[in-house]
Amino acid sequence: MDHFTYKNRVLHCDDVPVPALAEKYGTPLYVYSKKTLEHHLKQIQAAFKAVDPLVCYSIKTNGNLHIARLMVEGGAGCDVTSGGELYRALKAGCSPSKIVFAGAGKTNAEIRAALEQGVFLFNVESEGELSAIAEIAKSMGKVANVALRVNPDLPPKTHAKTDTSVKGVKFGLDIDTVLEFAEKVLKNPHVKVVGLHMHLGSPILSVEPYRQGIVKGQVLIDKLRAQGHRITIWNMGGGFGIHYKKNEALPASAFAEVIVPGIQEAKCKLVLEPGRFIVGNAGLLVSRVIYTKDSGGKHFVIQDAAMNDLIRPTLYDSFHRIWPVAGFDTPEDYQVENPGTVKSDVVGPVCESGDFLAKDRYLPAVGRGDLLATFSAGAYGMAMASNYNGRPRAAEVLVDGANHHLIRRRETYEDLIRPEVDF
Ligand SMILES: *Cc1c(COP(=O)(O)O)cnc(C)c1O
Repeated sequence: MDHFTYKNRVLHCDDVPVPALAEKYGTPLYVYSKKTLEHHLKQIQAAFKAVDPLVCYSIKTNGNLHIARLMVEGGAGCDVTSGGELYRALKAGCSPSKIVFAGAGKTNAEIRAALEQGVFLFNVESEGELSAIAEIAKSMGKVANVALRVNPDLPPKTHAKTDTSVKGVKFGLDIDTVLEFAEKVLKNPHVKVVGLHMHLGSPILSVEPYRQGIVKGQVLIDKLRAQGHRITIWNMGGGFGIHYKKNEALPASAFAEVIVPGIQEAKCKLVLEPGRFIVGNAGLLVSRVIYTKDSGGKHFVIQDAAMNDLIRPTLYDSFHRIWPVAGFDTPEDYQVENPGTVKSDVVGPVCESGDFLAKDRYLPAVGRGDLLATFSAGAYGMAMASNYNGRPRAAEVLVDGANHHLIRRRETYEDLIRPEVDF
């Protein structure tokens, strides 16, 4: 569900025509729908209501303070993966008691900052990390609450670069040795193992991995308890998929159906770390066609958004729906050759052959000055944007009903050189 709709062949976000936004704020432009963001958070909260979960918005997905604050105001905590994200979450108004700290490479400084703030939970991924947390906690006279992040070694679920629970990836503790490890931790007075964490990968379009994760997690929790750990928290991570192509994603209630009974049986507090599910379909990237050209048997649409604005197609071979903002009927299926379309590569101005938003895509014959919308771009879009090729990062706008306002201004050329000192 989102609030992007074509009315009389003009794309609107809520009541605002997208061409008006492009005119006012320029392109490339990220446009977010406040109502969609709130709707998605509420959908998760409602689906898991029976176990009163702590929903921690995965701030790495889209860290804009205005968006993070919306989540916090909606009752969410934050899932952070670095000191920078911890800083961001706190700035957004998140209470430390609702912050969970993930990541395989937490530095001493990051651990210290998190302990100073009093974050709710560390998701621990290695023996070395646990020692570091214990040592730092000791030096501060504190006890750290940790969840053991286990790699449950499930069958491949998604693109190799986003699958986090198969054997051989860097994430989590090895499920075969986690109990030996946990046994040793018991003696350490400065860390308390209070939970189990798993994040299975992303985006996941089936409940099956969660079902399998619950089964494996249940066994582990029983064994950890038998060792003497008081396990009260089960963090199931994020990963819920969204619509990129058609309506392929599952509602939150489908995931709840397999997760909630497991949590109830384990008598644990559920923590969730959704990111993509909340913000993915709540954002689109608007760009303007600069040129079109035919070369080497291909038709190229060269527009002003590039891999530095949205790297997912380049990095993950991701499919994003793309369609002109105005002037054309929308098809049922964007993946097939619809009448009046031209097979096109949608590319940007960056000097890389890998700079594309879509390849071999059937699009209406657009020309210089036309606006394009790249859909489902709210997650891992702006968050991964860079200044490559001397490109200032895009502006971001939040729309609510008939209102819209800038939530991040377009970067300037001065912004590009600002951190380069003593010049
Ligand atoms: C990236 C990440 C998430 C968020 O994943 P989504 O697919 O965006 O929901 C949650 N937890 C951890 C540990 C992550 O690394």
